[in-house]
Amino acid sequence: MAEKEETDPKAQPKSESEDVGVNAQKVLDDLSEFLDPSFLGNFMRDRLHIDESGKKVLDEVSVEGVARYIKDNKCKNIITMAGAGISTSAGIPDFRSEGSGLYDNLQKYNLPCPEAIFTIDYFRENPKPFFVLAKELFPGTLTPTPCHYFIRMLHDKGLLLRHYTQNIDTLERISGLPDDKVVEAHGTFHTSHCLTCKKEYTMEWMKEKIFSDVVPECEETNCKGVVKPDIVFFGEALPKRFADCVGEDFEKCDLLIIMGTSLKVQPFASLSSRVSKDCPRLYINLQAADPAPAGFLAFLMPTSGFDFDSEKKYRDVFKQATCDDGCQQLAALIGWGTELKTLIKTETVKINKENGKSEKPEKVKAV
Ligand SMILES: [Zn+2]
Repeated sequence: MAEKEETDPKAQPKSESEDVGVNAQKVLDDLSEFLDPSFLGNFMRDRLHIDESGKKVLDEVSVEGVARYIKDNKCKNIITMAGAGISTSAGIPDFRSEGSGLYDNLQKYNLPCPEAIFTIDYFRENPKPFFVLAKELFPGTLTPTPCHYFIRMLHDKGLLLRHYTQNIDTLERISGLPDDKVVEAHGTFHTSHCLTCKKEYTMEWMKEKIFSDVVPECEETNCKGVVKPDIVFFGEALPKRFADCVGEDFEKCDLLIIMGTSLKVQPFASLSSRVSKDCPRLYINLQAADPAPAGFLAFLMPTSGFDFDSEKKYRDVFKQATCDDGCQQLAALIGWGTELKTLIKTETVKINKENGKSEKPEKVKAV
């Protein structure tokens, strides 16, 4: 049979058509280097007569306009979305960023790739490198940032529908946001579970193990399973609460504030496109947004589709700043500047007291 195929001339066209398939893909790939995905997206939308714009609800498409929108009680269901950038000033390094130095002392473990540390299959085989890294990630004291307290203020004023975070550092909870207001999309260090018998452990228990340089082992009789923090590893599903809340929240949202994330990690990044077309979106980040995926077919992918600069812009505002500065400036524009400073001061003193520190709060900063 195999011999016949080799000598059968009819086999030839089949292999040629396969070549054509490969070549077509190559042509698409080559084209993608010359064509701008946003150009293609606009071209397709024009041809299909898709009008994507909604109602302009801001009196001005600027941070000042967003501030007035909040001040004039025009929004009551604010959603905040946050990434690592809101926690960097709390001394928590972004473990995804290259050159953070976090991976340097892991070389002796011969990891297949740095991401293996966060892969569930690798963790089951060899949990040690993760716990070495976790020790680096844990700051001595967990102190929320001005940005965290701005989010807390939105809640105190009854304006926060939900806070979605990619962070696992629990700073939102420490800042005083109630559990039901926080969705930790990538899980949390707040609790841990035994991989074998599912027994739950607290963050204090886990922290003590991590700082003792031991792989945390379950204390149930005869179990000895490895205990893993409830952060989401590659190969694990996102928490059910994430999907449940996303389904309910985003259509109600009347102001979306996105902070400290490059919007590159899915499905988190695509959330920004789930609000209504009328919903203003404020993006506070040190780097400019680059939410569009690269490649020829990028215009078919769900993207955030921000429009910060065009003539048609009507709801997207980009504030290039650290999350702390951006939030403090926004608070000042709304008229909450002093109140936010007082909240930060009071809470920081409280946290330092609980941690046995007597020095003055470090995080209070003039705007
Ligand atoms: Zn167990």
